Amino acid sequence: MRRKIVAGNWKMNTTPVEGVELAKNVVAGKGGVCSCVDFIVCPPFTHLSEVIKVVRGSGIAVGAQNCAAEEKGAYTGEVSAKMIASLGAEYVILGHSERREYYGETSATLNKKMVQAYANQLVPIYCVGEKLAEREAGKHFDVVKAQIEEVVFNLTDEQFSKLIIAYEPVWAIGTGKTATADQAQEMHAFIRQVLASKFGEKAAETPILYGGSCKPSNAKEIFAKEDVDGGLIGGAALVADDFLAIGKGFEK
Ligand code: PEP
Repeated sequence: MRRKIVAGNWKMNTTPVEGVELAKNVVAGKGGVCSCVDFIVCPPFTHLSEVIKVVRGSGIAVGAQNCAAEEKGAYTGEVSAKMIASLGAEYVILGHSERREYYGETSATLNKKMVQAYANQLVPIYCVGEKLAEREAGKHFDVVKAQIEEVVFNLTDEQFSKLIIAYEPVWAIGTGKTATADQAQEMHAFIRQVLASKFGEKAAETPILYGGSCKPSNAKEIFAKEDVDGGLIGGAALVADDFLAIGKGFEK
């Protein structure tokens, strides 16, 4: 039985005060959602500490949106995995398409970030996904396969057993265009097959989340698919009721 996960990527939104308010509202409404759903919130670094305090005891976990590729030292402006973990965060999003696109993150960078994450007991939520032109050229499977092979295949079996994957077609992020439930299932099943080619049966336990304009109105249909184990939510995670309603997408 795979975990059902709804993770919120707040991106560069909310002030610390607003973020605390949002977290409080998520905590307050969580009781209305099946306890079978694991919620994770990923605020900006500046709010991690306060948000961790707010969610303590609620069953909601906290993640960061990124971490440094290096352990420590003269890397102005960077935040290390150790710093993040020392606050009590448990997860880190790595390889988000916005980081790949705007900050030039490559598989080489991401391999280093993975090392840092695991060395500090942070569970990576590793994002993969193709751009629109790549899908239109029929290259989407190849792109996603390479993103997995170049990074995930370097993990040990033990590290892999903790990993969460998020499939986020770049053309669906923040655009209002969602992949159809069938498109999501097709890619998720493919990802699982790629993972199984390296890690065997363990791949059956890897949570694979869908991300890209997921909202309360489409979550249920997408989450009903066999290989979709939840969502990585951007815009809709900024409204507590919407974020929680997405979690209700698992209810029959
Ligand atoms: C994201 O960036 O992880 C994401 C899924 O964004 P949105 O839900 O806004 O498309």
